[in-house]
Amino acid sequence: MGELQGIGVSPGRAAGPVHRLAPPPPPPAPAVIDADAERARARDAVAAVCADLTRRADLASDATAAEVLRAQVLMAGDEMLLEAVDAAVGGGADAPHAFDAALAEHRAAFEAAGGYLAERVSDLDDIRDRLVAASLGLPMPGVPSPGHPFILVARDLAPADTAGLDPAVVLGLITEEGGPTSHTAILARTLGIPAVVRCGSILEISDGVLVSLDGSSGAVAPGISELSAQAVNDAQRELLARRSASTGPGATSDGHPVALLANIGSARDLAPSVEGVGLFRTELLYLDRTEPPAFAEQVAAYQEVFAALPGRKVVVRTLDAGADKPLPFLRLADEPNPALGIRGLRVARTMPSVLDTQLSAIAAAAAATSADVWVMAPMVATAGEAAAFAVSCREHGLRTAGVMIEVPAAALRAGAVLRDVDFLSIGTNDLSQYTFAADRMCGDLAELLDPWQPALISLIAACAAAGREAGKPVGVCGESAADPDFALVLVGLGITSLSMAARSIPAVREALAAHTYDECVQFAKAALAADTPTAARAAVRP
Ligand code: PEP
Ligand code: MG
Repeated sequence: MGELQGIGVSPGRAAGPVHRLAPPPPPPAPAVIDADAERARARDAVAAVCADLTRRADLASDATAAEVLRAQVLMAGDEMLLEAVDAAVGGGADAPHAFDAALAEHRAAFEAAGGYLAERVSDLDDIRDRLVAASLGLPMPGVPSPGHPFILVARDLAPADTAGLDPAVVLGLITEEGGPTSHTAILARTLGIPAVVRCGSILEISDGVLVSLDGSSGAVAPGISELSAQAVNDAQRELLARRSASTGPGATSDGHPVALLANIGSARDLAPSVEGVGLFRTELLYLDRTEPPAFAEQVAAYQEVFAALPGRKVVVRTLDAGADKPLPFLRLADEPNPALGIRGLRVARTMPSVLDTQLSAIAAAAAATSADVWVMAPMVATAGEAAAFAVSCREHGLRTAGVMIEVPAAALRAGAVLRDVDFLSIGTNDLSQYTFAADRMCGDLAELLDPWQPALISLIAACAAAGREAGKPVGVCGESAADPDFALVLVGLGITSLSMAARSIPAVREALAAHTYDECVQFAKAALAADTPTAARAAVRP
């Protein structure tokens, strides 16, 4: 088989023998049943699966993985699911078939909803397989353990599989399905495991065959020799060792400074050496709640982060709820098109007290520490919204107020938006989604969501130019900032800070240190002049 092409979602190269994820257990032929016994069997299976997932969450090596697993415990223990199982048992099904039927119903509903929920279908499939296995007394399905390092291959990976992965054993991941924003991709990036998704035909490769993968370009080479596999892994090890030795502030080779900041969801994501935080996503505090977190609880959570970064910059984003980040306590009305509805700063139109309490809590936490606290609002569309947000911040005693640029309207009028705020931070994930009218969760539209799309680069250039004119900082905090080649283009456009998962910082620091500021400007000009993402990439790496 020749070279395969997928989408690279977690950078780095790896090589090793393929091992495929164990197939899920098939339900046995239906039997004549004792309904009470089957209901008890179903409840025992739910308890066993929830306990197993909770144990995995407790053992998970990072906060994101643990959070995802706890969300799965909630799904598996959901009362509505048990009611559907009870009803199926009432209709004559045994426990394994009842799970199968109940989860098929949930699956259809998720698929019909599309977007974020449709991408969660693999979570439901995983829960089904676990419940069926538990009710049959079989071991939990999941990641193979061949006793040596390997490349894990699967149709798709459920969070429960990915979260427990040990990067010393699982050298790389390749899936046939999944998208750039699926759990597989997000968790692979946080664990630092090179990964390629949407790689057709990968399941046809037999266990034991040696493959190499490139988590940046998405290239997969099957059937390589022992010697080339070793060369790939040696080169990757050397690269990581060199990068982990590099520290200090970001700058081009001729000393043009570029702040390299971290994206975090809570204090648990902080790495000790970071220059600062460029995006503190506060949603984590609000997840799975029927009531908003109390003022004191918020102060404590923010203060934990600020206190860990004395004298350093922390950019806190106010609550970004709605669309791909549904929060039950907001009780937002069902919308036909939630990504275009009440989300981000727009939530403050209907529930101003949520923003008000949050700004008070951020101000109280900031006053108790020496961190340099900046605050920004998500999903701002107009200069008027930006100005009103800045007024709210100042009323709460927060000195540095900015907005995220995620909507093309705000990018096109970046100069006006900047008039009343102190800085901009470009959220390229959403800016791509809204510029290309392409759902960011839709793996099939991945090429439109490619940050190298010239239209996206033009919008970023407009924001950077507005910042230069106003003498105010303009950063990028979307996933694109973590691409070392794209970072060069961003700096050349005039972007002043780049914020990304802490693990991605060393590669970006290294790329900047290898080029002068003028070279970055030339890369930016060439990328702006390109007509396609491929041509834009080639302008930096011919
Ligand atoms: C973005 O949209 O680029 C961003 C950083 O915000 P989030 O991914 O949290 O929506
Ligand atoms: Mg966003």
